[in-house]
Amino acid sequence: RADIALYRVKESGRNGIAFFEQAMQLAASERLTIESELRQAITQGQFQLHYQPQIQADNHRIVGAEALIRWQHPERGMISPASFIPVLEESGMILSAGQWVVTEACQHIRRLLDGHMLTENFRLSVNISPRQFRQQDFVEQIEQAIRDSAIPASYLVLEITESIVIQDINDTIAKMQQLRALGVSFAIDDFGTGYSSLSYLKRLPLDTLKIDQSFVRDCTQDPNDAEIIRTIVALGLNLHLKLIAEGVEQQEQLDFLVKLNCHAYQGFLYSPAVAEDDFMRLLEVGR
Ligand code: C2E
Ligand code: MG
Ligand code: MG
Ligand code: MG
Repeated sequence: RADIALYRVKESGRNGIAFFEQAMQLAASERLTIESELRQAITQGQFQLHYQPQIQADNHRIVGAEALIRWQHPERGMISPASFIPVLEESGMILSAGQWVVTEACQHIRRLLDGHMLTENFRLSVNISPRQFRQQDFVEQIEQAIRDSAIPASYLVLEITESIVIQDINDTIAKMQQLRALGVSFAIDDFGTGYSSLSYLKRLPLDTLKIDQSFVRDCTQDPNDAEIIRTIVALGLNLHLKLIAEGVEQQEQLDFLVKLNCHAYQGFLYSPAVAEDDFMRLLEVGR
């Protein structure tokens, strides 16, 4: 049954790949149930964005946030994106859902600006999936969301993955350059977990590397993870990129990252992703 399958998938943790494999094994009928529920989720407004603060390491101020999608299912409660993003991506529904995310994120920035809650250096990051990025009119969609919400484009950061880059490097660079000309910036998400080569990194008009949480998790215990983080930070600093560490849960992890001059971090140590109202409250105290 679809609900049992989804439940198991949730239990399998945050790992999107593990989910993806499980989702592929679902019977066709189960997949259809999830797909039709997701279609309803889009039309009935069951998606929400939550916001996880990004903290500047040297002064502990909120300098940005990452928008993370949440599915408030009418019976099953809050469902994790790791379990439904792959289904959206597979079915093509990511195109409408992704557009909703971008629009909602820009409107969120608009509301924060209207409430005089943002400093000029604030950045809101939005996750972009491969199929969404590959659309021919992707640049125009972003442009329109920025225009409709009347925000300066510089508040927006698009998080792309190494898998997007390697699919088509020339198309990736072209779109990034067009969006950059508008003022949008780019981060590579989950850096170090994909297959992009360092020569790609040099060619991309990037602003930020996000150090994947899988390296942060054991960095105070596992010398290999510590060394990988040192290497990523050194690489990023040499390429004049900003470094944001993900999944910082413990003070010891933060101390390690601060010593390396990592610029910013996000993680449960400061706050998980929270609903808009709660994020506004965090901004009031943490700017
Ligand atoms: P991501 O972009 O790498 O996002 C970071 C994930 O780590 C989020 O999970 C976040 O809640 C979680 N996290 C944050 N701090 C900590 C921590 O201290 N410890 C641990 N263990 N986890 C932490 P979430 O919200 O479940 O999202 C999972 C993935 O789903 C995201 O990974 C991203 O790839 C995808 N995703 C989320 N929202 C969107 C969206 O709007 N569009 C697309 N295309 N993908 C999305
Ligand atoms: Mg992300
Ligand atoms: Mg990430
Ligand atoms: Mg991640």
